[in-house]
Amino acid sequence: MEQVVIVGAGPCGLSAAIELKKLGIDPLIIEKECVVHSIYLYPTYMQFFSTPELLEIGGYPFSTPNEKPYRQEALTYYRNVAARSELRIRAYHTVTDIVQADTGGFQLQVENRSGARSIVETQKLVLATGYFDHPNLIGIPGESLAKVTHYYREAHPYGGTKVVIIGGNNSAIDAAMDLMRTGAEVTVVYRGPTYSPNIKPWVRPIFESMVNKGRVRMLFSSQVMSIEEQTVTVRSNGEETQLANDFVLALTGFRPNRSLLTKLGSSMQPDGTPNFHTDSMETSVPGLYLAGVVAASAADANEIFIETGRHHGTLIARHITG
Ligand SMILES: Cc1cc2nc3c(=O)[nH]c(=O)nc-3n(C[C@H](O)[C@H](O)[C@H](O)COP(=O)(O)OP(=O)(O)OC[C@H]3O[C@@H](n4cnc5c(N)ncnc54)[C@H](O)[C@@H]3O)c2cc1C
Repeated sequence: MEQVVIVGAGPCGLSAAIELKKLGIDPLIIEKECVVHSIYLYPTYMQFFSTPELLEIGGYPFSTPNEKPYRQEALTYYRNVAARSELRIRAYHTVTDIVQADTGGFQLQVENRSGARSIVETQKLVLATGYFDHPNLIGIPGESLAKVTHYYREAHPYGGTKVVIIGGNNSAIDAAMDLMRTGAEVTVVYRGPTYSPNIKPWVRPIFESMVNKGRVRMLFSSQVMSIEEQTVTVRSNGEETQLANDFVLALTGFRPNRSLLTKLGSSMQPDGTPNFHTDSMETSVPGLYLAGVVAASAADANEIFIETGRHHGTLIARHITG
């Protein structure tokens, strides 16, 4: 019987584990991939919009000569912090089911990569499962074609091809700039009538200049209606046009999967936003806590990010230890 199990070794799960350790509890973290797998899946050369001190967990300094760290630096930082804190991480194990145990705690069904199952019992449970596994699907014909991806890694494979990017926030803009430099023919299809206010302020002028020079085609107030093998159909100002196309990057964001929470009977608001106590992160199920993005509202999954979600662990640790 564990005292506390944390599901998910993202920045917020790791932070919760360190805060618990500081107060004398040594939690078990169960992670289906590697430590900070979401950051591993970011675009390879991505630069954070946060400064390093706002990404720190457990009081470990995040030192970098850059004003904003790059993905590679964050991978090193979180990996080292996990090792230095001697966290117990069971990586490459997926929590596939959770039930409340007769003893008052929780019983987790855990599966390794070969499908072998085991049971872990715990008194308290922290869900820190993030949102990166569940892209916001657009729900249009052709979205499941092989040429469509919701995860952009790097530009090289797209050199000399025709790429449509769906979305207008940082991921879309960063990818467009990258692809343009690789010699791809890029069209960004965005619903908004003008540039998103979320675009990193130091990137926006460069991007706008590239659009003005015709190096990237930007379609505002536009939607991709369907994706075909060699084209995409776009509606702009009420008119539909077919664009020749090789690849589609659907960079439309992510949303948490709250099926484990629902399964445990945790109360939700009508729109699917989970209810929890903001001073402890405990849900309506006693002993069940949320850390990180999984606690975000249904309307805006980005309202919680590393900068804010890293503090959930302190609240949880204080509540658990009284
Ligand atoms: C391109 C990009 C750039 C970003 N830049 C910034 C930034 O500059 N600053 C900032 O603050 N935020 C940024 N974010 C947001 C940030 O990445 C997320 O807010 C953060 O990863 C959330 O941390 P988390 O610990 O809640 O979840 P995650 O990091 O998503 O971690 C959840 C973990 O749970 C694991 N997991 C899920 N389900 C299970 C299961 N059933 N069993 C076992 N393990 C499971 C996953 O594999 C994952 O490792 C960015 C996001 C993106 C996509």
